[in-house]
Amino acid sequence: MIADQHVHLERGPYTPENYPDAWLDRYLEQAARAGVQRLGIVEHAYRFHEARGLLPNAWADARCLYPLETYLEFVERSKARGVPVSFGLEMDYVPGAEEGIARFLARYPWDFVHGSVHFVGDVGIDLDEHRPAAAALGRVEIWRRYFALSRMAAESGLFDVLTHPDLPKIFGERAEEPLDAEFAATVEVLRRKDMALECNTAGQRKPVGEIYPVEGYLTVARAAGVPMSIGSDAHVPEDVGAGFADGIALARSAGYTEAVHFIGRRRIAEPLP
Ligand SMILES: [Zn+2]
Ligand SMILES: [Zn+2]
Repeated sequence: MIADQHVHLERGPYTPENYPDAWLDRYLEQAARAGVQRLGIVEHAYRFHEARGLLPNAWADARCLYPLETYLEFVERSKARGVPVSFGLEMDYVPGAEEGIARFLARYPWDFVHGSVHFVGDVGIDLDEHRPAAAALGRVEIWRRYFALSRMAAESGLFDVLTHPDLPKIFGERAEEPLDAEFAATVEVLRRKDMALECNTAGQRKPVGEIYPVEGYLTVARAAGVPMSIGSDAHVPEDVGAGFADGIALARSAGYTEAVHFIGRRRIAEPLP
């Protein structure tokens, strides 16, 4: 049994004021085709009015458009339908916002919460339009701060999974120095905080053309006993389960024999197929 634990509904012919059941059904149909038995749906927290200011920048403000209530109604309706889906959020970690994040997360009994670092300061590291700003900051600084923020996210205890754990490689700009010490230090916090690391196949569909993270990071995590979830980071139904054969092979190569999913923030391990 394998779960795609990182699926967004956000793109496509729906508006978050109206999540049609038929839209989720398209994701479930693709899951069946891809050999995926369960989905973990997450919406980006910054989309909701109630999370305004938790990711304090103009990029997020421009996308803060919808009431959380509509998502919650959809979650409740879907749970009543009995679909094999867990529901959560992808939450940006921002230092200093911990109390606000905790208050926002407490609005609903989520199945799981992804903790993500997408911004180093005001620089969106996965945004094409921010690449000049990232270049101005410099690759060494981006990687250094990215890992420092990842460890702070884990230390916060707010999240179940650390997502796409080497995201700064997205455009193919790799770190100039070896990252082994960063992997080891971050894995140590994940272990201590009993948090999972994500194997995220979306990197295959980005300019870097490879899964997040590199095998070496997964190997260190596995050796430390840190659990792993796997996700496609699909933003459209067609991408559910994308790259899972490669993701599972990478995880196995790193020593993993199980992947985890979550119900009511309880972690459930299933053998890799
Ligand atoms: Zn993300
Ligand atoms: Zn995502």
